[in-house]
Amino acid sequence: MYLKPKVKAPQPELIENTLNILKTYNTNTICIESACPNISECFNRGVATFLILGKICTRNCKFCNVSTNKPLEVDENEPVNIAKAIKKLNLNYVVITSVDRDDLKDFGSNQFIKTVKEIKKISPNTKIELLTPDFRAREDILEQITQLEVEKFAHNIEIVPRLYKEIMPQCNYEKSLKVLKYYSKKTSKSSIMVGVGESIDELKQVFNDLAEIGVKYLTIGQYLRPTPKHYPVKKYYSDEEFEYLKELAIKSGIKYVISGKLVRSSYYADKY
Ligand code: SF4
Repeated sequence: MYLKPKVKAPQPELIENTLNILKTYNTNTICIESACPNISECFNRGVATFLILGKICTRNCKFCNVSTNKPLEVDENEPVNIAKAIKKLNLNYVVITSVDRDDLKDFGSNQFIKTVKEIKKISPNTKIELLTPDFRAREDILEQITQLEVEKFAHNIEIVPRLYKEIMPQCNYEKSLKVLKYYSKKTSKSSIMVGVGESIDELKQVFNDLAEIGVKYLTIGQYLRPTPKHYPVKKYYSDEEFEYLKELAIKSGIKYVISGKLVRSSYYADKY
């Protein structure tokens, strides 16, 4: 299945109204934080990606624009507030994600669990997708997470394994595969960015690895450098090349693939 990303002109009123509600409930979204180019289209369709556990990450990946520092205390009211914001915005499909919280004993997993429970209490028809950190692949945590009744369990593989050491030094490809293998007991999804120096053979290997452990959904998007301090873009892929990557991923055995320049992990999350 192939969905081509479209960029619609921003709708200031819609965005302002959404921003006001998000502010009222003190919640963060990736849509706003990353100034996502798909924002009007997603908000129009009742889709958003919430960022829980604060805006400060304990890891320091070279492509990411989220701040790295000592993270804030966990906000106990966050799960209820997110549920209220979702209800008020009348969202049909939400993605819940977080920064990495290696400072917490449970790596933030309980906040995911509480957030899902609160959303289900007041918006039982809203579909939920979880996009989690690796939780250091701790099995007791992965077991708890997969008990939740949600649409999809996602974890992003991000880049090819050879580049982990250089670009994501605190992450581990094998651990991420272990997380996705666990999530594949239910419905699993992953995402990869291209344009950071990978080869086609390396991408093929990642597609094969993901297919082998049962990953069902994959998004492939172009890496864009957030600021000149971030990792440089090594290559811009053409539409034809994105189409080719999609074909390779499907051939490897991944059932649903979205591939394109503006594709982000939560893009069209509700549609495929
Ligand atoms: S693609 Fe994802 S981050 Fe971007 S606006 Fe849509 S839901 Fe938000």
